[in-house]
Amino acid sequence: MARTRTTLVVQHTIRLSDHLVRVHLGGPGFASFQPNGFTDAYVKLAFPGPDGDVMRTYTVRSVDPAAEEIAIDFVYHGEEGVAGPWAIAAEPGDTIELMGPGGAYAPRADAEWHLLAGDESALPAIAAASEALPADAVGYIVLEVHGPADEVAVVHPEGVELTWVHRGDAEPGVALAAAVRALPWLEGQVQVFIHGEAQAVMHDLRPYIRKEHGVSAEWANSISGYWRRGRTEEGFRTWKSELAEREKATPAAV
Ligand SMILES: Cc1cc2nc3c(=O)[nH]c(=O)nc-3n(C[C@H](O)[C@H](O)[C@H](O)COP(=O)(O)OP(=O)(O)OC[C@H]3O[C@@H](n4cnc5c(N)ncnc54)[C@H](O)[C@@H]3O)c2cc1C
Repeated sequence: MARTRTTLVVQHTIRLSDHLVRVHLGGPGFASFQPNGFTDAYVKLAFPGPDGDVMRTYTVRSVDPAAEEIAIDFVYHGEEGVAGPWAIAAEPGDTIELMGPGGAYAPRADAEWHLLAGDESALPAIAAASEALPADAVGYIVLEVHGPADEVAVVHPEGVELTWVHRGDAEPGVALAAAVRALPWLEGQVQVFIHGEAQAVMHDLRPYIRKEHGVSAEWANSISGYWRRGRTEEGFRTWKSELAEREKATPAAV
């Protein structure tokens, strides 16, 4: 991922749903933004804090070369944190520094079917992936959101079934995991993309895909948490390294 920092300027914002706000970023810095072709392209945003910059990771929902803008969809999850509150209050002319993009996933043409699942934090990456699927693609998209007012339009091929699940006030990821497990498993080679709250994704859905269905890492390399309940992104990084250490010590783990 490019380590040089670019400064972008807020052009305008759109409230997409109850908990999602889209921020369009452009200005002179757009010229140095190099798209990488991944549908899960992400950037590191730098928010100035009292002890130095606080870094947060966000998907680039779309790039518009004609308008010289990128769009980022932020989950507004309340007044906790830095990125969500920044996005909801963002106004034209505000600036933000970012690094990137990085990325790892794009739908493969040789996959026989696709499984994409996640919560609001993964909705931008899943929507971008869905738009990139060929018209004859088959498979499933499962999206867990808080409630009906969080559903947004997602363009998807006819053969890809879209399911919304509502968590309400329940623990994040539980409804998502149940909905994914309830899907009839299709024949042929699947490519999987699953992200969201880390506990459900890493401790339920990843073993379900990798162990119970035996999907190899090559076809399921994009299954991970995007955030962890009760932890800031810094705390979540610690959670991830502890999990990686445990998995190194127990090679049977996926
Ligand atoms: C590769 C990647 C791509 C991502 N893309 C996006 C994206 O496009 N849009 C997006 O909104 N997020 C995305 N995320 C998740 C985002 O980085 C985290 O949600 C991040 O913690 C938000 O920062 P914050 O400053 O708002 O909250 P933090 O300061 O990190 O956390 C404060 C509190 O809010 C809680 N919290 C954090 N995120 C959520 C959430 N989504 N729902 C409910 N509670 C939450 C935390 O558990 C904590 O208790 C992505 C993460 C990764 C790794």
